[in-house]
Amino acid sequence: MRELYAIPPRDTLSRPACWFVPGGSPPVDFCFPPPSQPCVPIAGRAEAFPVHRIYCVGRNYEEHAREMGASGREEPFFFCKPADAVVCDGSGRLLVPYPDRTQDLQHEVELVVAIGAAGCRVTVEQAARMVWGYSVGIDLTRRDLQAQAKKLGRPWDVAKGFERSAPIGAIRPAGEVGALGQRRIWLQVNGQPRQEGRLSQMIWGVEETIAQLSGFFELAAGDLIFTGTPAGVGRLAPGDRIEAGIDGIGTIDLLVTPQ
Ligand code: MN
Repeated sequence: MRELYAIPPRDTLSRPACWFVPGGSPPVDFCFPPPSQPCVPIAGRAEAFPVHRIYCVGRNYEEHAREMGASGREEPFFFCKPADAVVCDGSGRLLVPYPDRTQDLQHEVELVVAIGAAGCRVTVEQAARMVWGYSVGIDLTRRDLQAQAKKLGRPWDVAKGFERSAPIGAIRPAGEVGALGQRRIWLQVNGQPRQEGRLSQMIWGVEETIAQLSGFFELAAGDLIFTGTPAGVGRLAPGDRIEAGIDGIGTIDLLVTPQ
């Protein structure tokens, strides 16, 4: 995909100088082995999608916004998870240990948009061309820590950006998925329905979200955007089995294991 910079980022020229480019010249020696590249399987392909950053949208479904105490079509707001928070396998059941420092781990099933081209300050029309594919993910949240952060006006990182907080299914290329329309998004815990919605209920659509986000950050190929969750978020316990999916995009199967 070609670069989609509506307005070139200010540091396009200076940035690669301090970035390691695999196979680049001169070769770089590290003081210790560099971290491995987080990646997500692609449905039906041997190649994987390398993850650059993980962005998340808050309160993007009206009913969920209401259950979290908000109302109306407010400007979307964003937070991040580290790229190595992804948990994926390609097939089979994912295992996530119940995290430390919480008594209220919660599930949020979300449409995940996989970005395939760079772009900053893009229009809604340009944003559509940046979509590489889609997946289903779970924005795992330490809700008690989030509530505390909200109350004290502190950052959400410890509530949202912990290890293994971004389980995700295989990515399906956008061309195979087609228009998102009114697809069902759902999540169940131990066979009991918890979350249920339609992608058409998103307050900010995929292209609008990308356009807005690209005003705050320089988006790049490899970015993942968790686009918000429908109503019905709830508590998880060790031993819980989560199954979730989006019609025609994919499913995810997750087991919460003891600490
Ligand atoms: Mn979320």
